Amino acid sequence: MAYDFDLFVIGAGSGGVRAARFAAGFGARVAVAESRYLGGTCVNVGCVPKKLLVYGAHFSEDFEHAKGFGWSLGEADFDWSTLITNKDREINRLNGIYRKLLIDSGVTLLEAHARIVGPNKVEVQGQVYSAERILIATGGWPQVPDVPGREHAITSNEAFYLKALPKRVVVVGGGYIAVEFASIFNGLGADTTLVYRGELFLRGFDGSVRTHLHEELLKRDMTIRFNSDIERIEKQADGSLLLSMKGGGTLETDCVFYATGRRPMLDNLGLESVNVELDDEGYIEVNENYESSEPSILAIGDVIGGVQLTPVALAEGMAVARRLFKPELYRPVDYDHIPTAVFSLPNIGTVGLTEEAAIEAGYEVQIFESRFRAMKLTLTDDQERTLMKLVVDAKTDQVLGCHMVGSDAGEIVQSLAIAVKAGATKQIFDDTIGVHPTSAEEFVTMRSPVTR
Ligand code: FAD
Ligand code: NDP
Repeated sequence: MAYDFDLFVIGAGSGGVRAARFAAGFGARVAVAESRYLGGTCVNVGCVPKKLLVYGAHFSEDFEHAKGFGWSLGEADFDWSTLITNKDREINRLNGIYRKLLIDSGVTLLEAHARIVGPNKVEVQGQVYSAERILIATGGWPQVPDVPGREHAITSNEAFYLKALPKRVVVVGGGYIAVEFASIFNGLGADTTLVYRGELFLRGFDGSVRTHLHEELLKRDMTIRFNSDIERIEKQADGSLLLSMKGGGTLETDCVFYATGRRPMLDNLGLESVNVELDDEGYIEVNENYESSEPSILAIGDVIGGVQLTPVALAEGMAVARRLFKPELYRPVDYDHIPTAVFSLPNIGTVGLTEEAAIEAGYEVQIFESRFRAMKLTLTDDQERTLMKLVVDAKTDQVLGCHMVGSDAGEIVQSLAIAVKAGATKQIFDDTIGVHPTSAEEFVTMRSPVTR
């Protein structure tokens, strides 16, 4: 049967754009439908605008540091609307680049909602297209628990478009988005409270990293409430919000921001018309080739509920394009040693096993840890301390994990990830000459394991 397209991609986010562009480049006839914004979550309401706001928030520290180096700047003043206007301009520019990339690579771009109407059929604006394969790359959406008054809360989607910086913000959650946005609001001058239901935030990260970041955020005057959760949100006559806390007590704020995880975006996607199975959490279930239980329908990225990071969605998009249309270049995605950063202030950078996971996996571990005040701060009053940590297999000397909290942690750990992925031993780290004077050199100069 002749199809209109070889591949119909639903969603022009990180994974969808990568798959569509490369598939078209390999000679396939490709269509992509995008209902909201080209570039998806990462470009519009994720990584990119988030990092721009983090840069913005960092300036409050930079101005303080500058004084120690002889600069006097007068009183610093911050204008939220300038930051948001400039951020929006940059996002518009990126949307245009994505449009051009897709069109120039020969993809048929449909800027509208797509709905699956059969194993090989997709409907967009009343027109039905046939495709040999359909690729679902529809991403995720913020999930807010069913708290009375939740209509008064915002999520990351709205935070990027607030009209003004709230004077007081309560951020709920203890994952990436919660600590990043708490850092953004705090750095920009809002009175910020982080509320997390557990003992200590960033579950799954290395224990030393979690406690170190907690200490550093407290030094920055953020209010942090662990073992705490909201029972009810009420809007008061003056527009402020009254939060009744579980177990008693109230908090008053101008903005409550939920960062309590994300759900797969399957709204009005038409899955009821096909045999696509979902897992227990509602994500699309796929095999190692990203094929769903409906053989002609594949899925990648956040909607399959694996590691929800842009580089992972990109790698999955590339793997699908290659396997289908350029098999000689196909390599399966390697999910081991995925480095990641949390762009809190200070940043976290991490790759490989945490100390806890290594012990759990049965390794006998040697731990190397260094905490120090970065050279740049020595002329300032800033008492921030950097943490660097290596988790080493005592038997083989292999470095199992690298963890950092401090300036540019993401940048530093990206390079270390190559060494960890290559299976470098601690001896190789020790034999590597440092770059002096840098913070990063500490990763090759830690000599004595810590005793626990
Ligand atoms: P998405 O990028 O979400 O794209 C899905 C696209 O599909 C969207 O554009 C959507 O509009 C479209 N769509 C949905 N349904 C339909 C339909 N029926 N028809 C047509 N189009 C449809 N990751 C990092 O690696 N680093 C970071 O710093 C980082 N920061 C983040 C910060 C925030 C606040 C958030 C929310 C996420 C962040 N992420 C980060 C995660 C990253 O954004 C996602 O992992 C990534 O965008 C997933 O890509 P995707 O292709 O699966 O989906
Ligand atoms: P996460 O899954 O990272 O964190 C969700 C947090 O919300 C957890 O602390 C969780 O607590 C808490 N939580 C969940 N449900 C509830 C509830 N009902 N009540 C109170 N608290 C709750 O999700 P995020 O939304 O922060 O981010 C989504 C994903 O996006 C991340 O996992 C990451 O993959 C990606 N991302 C990546 C970034 C980066 O690379 N820098 C930045 C931002 C996002 P508990 O731990 O107890 O379950």
